[in-house]
Amino acid sequence: MGEQDGVPEHVLVVGAGLSGLRTVEGLRRAGYEGRISLVGAEEHLPYDRPPLSKQFLAGDWERDRIDLVGHDALDELGVRAHLGRAAVALRVGGEGQELELDDGTTLHADAIVLAVGVTSRLLDGQPSSAHLLRSVDESQALRDALNGASSLLVVGAGFIGAEVAGGALDRGLDVTVLEAGDVPMGRVLGPEVGALAARLISDGGADLRCGVTVTAFTDTGAELSDGTSVTADQIVVGVGGQLDLGWLESTGLNLSGGIPCDTQGRVEGLPGVWAVGDAAAWTDPLQGDRPRHEHWTSATDQAAVVSRAIAGAEPPPATVPYFWSDQFGMKLQLIGRPDLADGLLSLHGDGLDGGEIKGTVVGYLRGEELVAVVGFGAARRIARYRKPLADGADRAAVLEFRDTLG
Ligand SMILES: Cc1cc2nc3c(=O)[nH]c(=O)nc-3n(C[C@H](O)[C@H](O)[C@H](O)COP(=O)(O)OP(=O)(O)OC[C@H]3O[C@@H](n4cnc5c(N)ncnc54)[C@H](O)[C@@H]3O)c2cc1C
Repeated sequence: MGEQDGVPEHVLVVGAGLSGLRTVEGLRRAGYEGRISLVGAEEHLPYDRPPLSKQFLAGDWERDRIDLVGHDALDELGVRAHLGRAAVALRVGGEGQELELDDGTTLHADAIVLAVGVTSRLLDGQPSSAHLLRSVDESQALRDALNGASSLLVVGAGFIGAEVAGGALDRGLDVTVLEAGDVPMGRVLGPEVGALAARLISDGGADLRCGVTVTAFTDTGAELSDGTSVTADQIVVGVGGQLDLGWLESTGLNLSGGIPCDTQGRVEGLPGVWAVGDAAAWTDPLQGDRPRHEHWTSATDQAAVVSRAIAGAEPPPATVPYFWSDQFGMKLQLIGRPDLADGLLSLHGDGLDGGEIKGTVVGYLRGEELVAVVGFGAARRIARYRKPLADGADRAAVLEFRDTLG
């Protein structure tokens, strides 16, 4: 074990999801010829999660369609996979890193990539009959349960909750959606655009109730904080992801905001350890803070940066955060960092003024600077705003740019 020319001989990737697999693939693509091991808590080979609340849940796609890789392809990449094994401890120092698995096995490596994602947050008193939606097994269980149901209660009007609600309405179910905040997705989109998201859900046919929480789950549904109750054949709880990093506590890292990383994914204070994906809090080179993105594209982009850095290859071009969600027949897309904004700029459509939602594009401004753009059913236009965003265009430049789009 050791390193030659700074390139490690054995890279160990912990977490066999999207970012873990993309790291492995990226290493080989960048010319890395050393040993690669992939440890994954799930029994499954890496699979894609977005379809779990969309095509797979709807029954439009079968299981094999969401696989990200097959056994043969993994063999061809020369990857030793340890599936169905969770990492339970990481020790760093001296001769490299040591990873302990839940079967007592110890693996040694001279570079470790943490790609462990997040788990679902649970509500107090949540019964085991309430569904969660993070793994393929959970999506399959919900898919089966919805087949025999006529009503669904969705707790949490986040992106996943809204997608599940829309899919269930398409199947003809009565759907109630509960949201603790004043509007759906308000933490990400802000109040005005969140209100637009609320309209999308209500117009789609769901009974959306905001500003309420579940006070008790019952055999037939749930009792709510406003004194009302909801009955439903099935319940889904979609109240966000949470970090599951207790096993890294002995590293001494402050993990409250995710695994703290520099701008390239190197974990702070742990030489030879990197982190990618939902659990990683990379330093934003422009803002200096450490946001964590639970986005498919960020997981992929970060894997490209880390795999190339480990292999000693040139870094890929910088990217802008991007997220999409398919709801109620519309693609909602978000580029940039709306969390930095203190104002909005209506760019296309009049959804913000109560008009048609489809085609609405809204900019987020921090002072005069464009920091994010969101679009509802406006895919072609949204793509065009990557450049002004990357350039940090100001209000006047953005409006001028908008006018060139017609
Ligand atoms: C239902 C659903 C729908 C989504 N839809 C969208 C969408 O429309 N658009 C979008 O941009 N994003 C979407 N996402 C988010 C996107 O899928 C994630 O951002 C992406 O999967 C993150 O990749 P990751 O590798 O960080 O984590 P994951 O893909 O979650 O993989 C992490 C893996 O690590 C494993 N693991 C955890 N701890 C350990 C351990 N100690 N030892 C070993 N293995 C461990 C886990 O079991 C898991 O398999 C969706 C997510 C879900 C759940």
